[in-house]
Amino acid sequence: MHKLNIGGLFMIKKETCKNKDFVVIFGKPGSGKGTISSMFCKEEKEMHNLNIISFSTGEYLRKLKQDPKMYKLYKQEFDKMDQGKRVSNKLVIAAVKKAIMDAEDGIIFDGFPRNEYQAKWLYEYLKSIGQNLNSVIILDVPDNEVLRRLSSRKTCPVCGKVYNSDYKSNYCKCGHTLIVRDDDTEFVIKNRLNDYKKYSKEVLSYFKSLSDNIKFYNINANRPKEKVLKDFIRVF
Ligand SMILES: [Zn+2]
Repeated sequence: MHKLNIGGLFMIKKETCKNKDFVVIFGKPGSGKGTISSMFCKEEKEMHNLNIISFSTGEYLRKLKQDPKMYKLYKQEFDKMDQGKRVSNKLVIAAVKKAIMDAEDGIIFDGFPRNEYQAKWLYEYLKSIGQNLNSVIILDVPDNEVLRRLSSRKTCPVCGKVYNSDYKSNYCKCGHTLIVRDDDTEFVIKNRLNDYKKYSKEVLSYFKSLSDNIKFYNINANRPKEKVLKDFIRVF
């Protein structure tokens, strides 16, 4: 956390070039990246009044897909996304750039960067605006746990709530019928796992090749989320 010194003009000067927290979170699909990030952001808001955003590329793009104009414009990209494949750098970077410009205190990037090109863009863009990538946090979960968690996951198409395998009913608490999302079928999950292994290797080796102050942390995420969150707070 970067705290500002209070004191007249000095503070104003500091404020203009305030250091924000930019962190990349890595983890297989179903590792709980989204859950941990949003729990963390909520806690930072309550405890330190910091507005850290959890930016999930997938979630953001799924929202964009609902916009008929956007869907028409990027139909091919959205179809690729539904098959568990990667979307174009152009679309993703435009979305991330907007998030960075709007960020008050920092961002946790979830599902970004996906390749060396995007990683290099992120690193250089942050530098160009006087910011830094602080750390890369990796949530570790074994493959079989990913399959167990995701293949039984059901989503409410109306309110968006996601239920895990412990939830036996086919109805959302809001009353609507639950569905298995296109990207939660076993075939797509395996595709996403393979994709993750490829891109995380590529991106991590790029970040590690930089002679910079980026820190790397691995957290065992095959545990209750409260424990994972505790470790996440410790290393953030
Ligand atoms: Zn619902």
